[in-house]
Amino acid sequence: MLLKRHEWLDLARKLDWQYSYVAERDVFPEAMSGRPWLEHAEWSDWDEPYRTSYAEYVATQHEKEAAVHAVRDAVGRVADFERHDRAWLSALKLHAATLPLAEFAAVVGNLRAARFGRDGAWRTMATLGALDELRHTQIPLTVLHDLVAWDPQFDWTHRLFHTNEWVAIAARHFADELLLLSNPVEFAVATHFVFETGFTNLQFVALSAVAHAVGDRMFEKMVQSIQTDEARHAQIGGAVVKKVCEHDRAYAQYLVDKWFWRSWHFFAVVTGFAMDYLTPLTHRKSSFREFMQEWVLEQFERTLRDYGLERPWYWDEFERSLGYYHHQVYASAYSYRATVWFDLPLPSPAERAWLAEKYPESWADFAPIWERVSDRWRASGPGIEWYTHGVTPVGFCSLCQLVLSAGTPRKNSACVRDHGGRRYIFCSAPCAWIFEHEPERYAAHHTVVDRILAGEAPANLIALVRDYFGLDEATWGKDSSRGRYPWLAPAVGSAK
Ligand code: MN
Ligand code: MN
Repeated sequence: MLLKRHEWLDLARKLDWQYSYVAERDVFPEAMSGRPWLEHAEWSDWDEPYRTSYAEYVATQHEKEAAVHAVRDAVGRVADFERHDRAWLSALKLHAATLPLAEFAAVVGNLRAARFGRDGAWRTMATLGALDELRHTQIPLTVLHDLVAWDPQFDWTHRLFHTNEWVAIAARHFADELLLLSNPVEFAVATHFVFETGFTNLQFVALSAVAHAVGDRMFEKMVQSIQTDEARHAQIGGAVVKKVCEHDRAYAQYLVDKWFWRSWHFFAVVTGFAMDYLTPLTHRKSSFREFMQEWVLEQFERTLRDYGLERPWYWDEFERSLGYYHHQVYASAYSYRATVWFDLPLPSPAERAWLAEKYPESWADFAPIWERVSDRWRASGPGIEWYTHGVTPVGFCSLCQLVLSAGTPRKNSACVRDHGGRRYIFCSAPCAWIFEHEPERYAAHHTVVDRILAGEAPANLIALVRDYFGLDEATWGKDSSRGRYPWLAPAVGSAK
């Protein structure tokens, strides 16, 4: 007689046993499994709500794949992408280059948990998570591959993580630690609980709604399909956080504080640029900050409370930075656009008015930057990229490896710390705090400027971009309209 599902399911998904000839500590050493190290009996009530079997997983994933490929067949050709606004294509290039290979690193993080996670159900879920992340690598690589012949910037979908371009250095610094280096406990708190529960909704649900408004059904379908997997395997996070909180709440709080700040910087660039600068104005509904408030602040704060955790200690600074950080980094990226692999639009007066309305307390600090850039475009005329471009390399944070942009145009928040005979510079107090807690993880790393000073990378910006970042004239970022904006009339009295 066949067993019913509920009769066999736990035997299949939650299989643990007593070790007779080895010690449990040798099967799951703390260095590989993480801390707090507890006897398995302590983990035996570990559970998550999806309770999926492998057979069910395969059937469901097959349906999801078929649905993505049906959309690709219908609206995934070059001709479909040619119709999109150029600025929106940059949002796609930014997403496509930063996410898929990070997802591939997440395969490794999940596989470590599939071996060293402390309960059978956890290991089963992590095995499915690894398969999920492989799919999240393959879908965008497949969908965007055909676009490479049309627009070489799409080649960076696969290329970015293999270069020393500055966003790549920052993304690797973050993703390598988060996804390749962390033990299963830190991986669960950092990736599943903070990154996937706290933040990915922003890029995969909120930005998917924006893609819908823009008319990009391919992007909408792709990220929605990915998010259904994230929603399942992210459940590992809460189940692990609960146990860590029972035994070492301070450690759980430390991991949350560390990874929330690091994730915030990552999403401020990827999602912040896309929502506030790269989405055509007519399709914008909410600002990046409004999305952050709805999708991250309210929901994540509630989740933290449910586990008896506090908001990170730098919460006031974080809330202030919602009005500044991505604006500062965008202004830097525009001013150094040849250092990235996608084009950036100059915000029009109408877009600036929208930003002023959405960021009433901070936009007055940024408006003069764009007026000055506009004046320089008027003076040079269209097509002269370098007249509105920075020429000397800028400073980078020794922790997040992003440009030193965490302050405001009026207040510099960069700070220095000495460690092991070397001086380090940080964009913000939380980045310095993370470094000081685990200097052995970070001290040996070199920022772009460290590499220039050591003679490993050229100081001349064009040589740096070409020879070290791996960009060339066909791929480096330019103004999305090459300075040809209808509103950018030549200055009165100009000969042009
Ligand atoms: Mn994923
Ligand atoms: Mn994931």
